[in-house]
Amino acid sequence: MNASRMTPSCRLVVRLFVFFCVTLVLGCGMSEPAGGSEESGTVASRERMVRTQIAARGVQDEGVLRAMRSVPRDQFVPGAVASYAYEDHALPIGWDQTISQPYIVAIMSELAHVDPPCRVLEVGTGSGYQAAVLAEMGCEVYTIEIVEELGHWAHEALEKTGYGDRVHTRVGDGYRGWPEAAPFDAVVVTAAAPRIPQPLIEQLREGGRLVIPVGEHWQVLEVHRRTASGVEREQVLDVRFVPMTGEIRDGKRRETAGDVGGEEAEDATPDRDQPGEDKAETGTEQE
Ligand code: SAH
Repeated sequence: MNASRMTPSCRLVVRLFVFFCVTLVLGCGMSEPAGGSEESGTVASRERMVRTQIAARGVQDEGVLRAMRSVPRDQFVPGAVASYAYEDHALPIGWDQTISQPYIVAIMSELAHVDPPCRVLEVGTGSGYQAAVLAEMGCEVYTIEIVEELGHWAHEALEKTGYGDRVHTRVGDGYRGWPEAAPFDAVVVTAAAPRIPQPLIEQLREGGRLVIPVGEHWQVLEVHRRTASGVEREQVLDVRFVPMTGEIRDGKRRETAGDVGGEEAEDATPDRDQPGEDKAETGTEQE
């Protein structure tokens, strides 16, 4: 299937159909991680994924492209959907959560602007795939998942694929970050936040970046760069993610990114995409 020749609405119908089918197959639970994949087939599939979905959309960072060619995405999804692992969409991973579309994983990794040696915090482990990509890029990764079963499942997948020594997993609410491991070169949040979690900004080193989808139904992927005098914000892409849950939803806190060390310099430049009318599944580019 050559997705690039289809119209956006046709592509969306195909994606929704696949998403619907695999959701039916999965039911409400999670099966075992896919095992014993045909290595040569997945290498070719990853190569094609990088060429047609990621490089073709403008991701250029060699470290990201190399990592996306290496990490076996099929090992981070339930066996029932492993054959869809290199397709151009998000996939259900159980507990109402999804593994993000490969392109979104790539662009978030690129926006993190990290070179080894690097230390990255991820909030929203999900399948563990994004954490594995960051580890493959040469970073020490700390990742937090709020759904206990998913956190354990991802930990197991990371161990099995050989990333266990570079990825530290934790089950809990990522709102307060991982202060003992801070400061981070980047923090990547893979669930949509209604506002910027201030503790995550505070755990960035100077020059470090928070990459985060912000919003409720309509969301924008934002980069908040911590500077000596405050935070610079850039809006990059319209996206669709599952909501960030936990403390950020309790409505008691009213923090903004501008609270760190002074004013927030706003540079709102949506330079990659425009909002569309269709809705896509979570962890995807909005079309
Ligand atoms: N990065 C994942 C995709 C994540 S989907 C991957 O590569 O597969 C978003 C995840 O964020 C879900 O698993 C969800 O349970 C988790 N999440 C939502 N709110 C959270 C919070 N406050 N703290 C930690 N994880 C959270």
